[in-house]
Amino acid sequence: MEKIKQSKKLNMVVGCGNLGANIALTLSAQGEDVVVIDKNKQAFVKLGSDFGGMTLEGDATDIAFIGASGAETACAFITVTNNDNTNIMIAQIAKEMFGIKKVIARLYDSERSSVYEELGIETVCPELLSAIEIKKLLNREA
Ligand code: AMP
Repeated sequence: MEKIKQSKKLNMVVGCGNLGANIALTLSAQGEDVVVIDKNKQAFVKLGSDFGGMTLEGDATDIAFIGASGAETACAFITVTNNDNTNIMIAQIAKEMFGIKKVIARLYDSERSSVYEELGIETVCPELLSAIEIKKLLNREA
């Protein structure tokens, strides 16, 4: 596997669905170094041909794979696969085994988020964010 180049501000994004691709493209457009990991290489099509970052095909729950990628140099590790348990497992690997300080996981089940926040894993719950935005729209119309 190609090792990641040393970079001061490397962001790793796991899961190249719509959200992962969007995050990767946004960070890359801001001039940051980005590596996107997905177990399905077809997913990288969403990045388009102008994406300036790097892509790695593989399962991010595989500790050997993450280690071989050089992920320990990342300043931020964002895991947005479509499964809460997968995201939590990957987030814990990034935090505990590779010592990455900034670890963010998408969680569909908002009730679990406080447990992971206590472990130093920041969580983002689409359901909660949607509820906040909907309330704002309702207030604006009122
Ligand atoms: P979405 O369902 O659009 O949120 O996309 C989730 C993405 O996460 C898909 O492209 C999956 O292939 C990817 N994915 C799921 N599990 C893993 C994993 N263990 N390692 C790497 N990528 C994964």
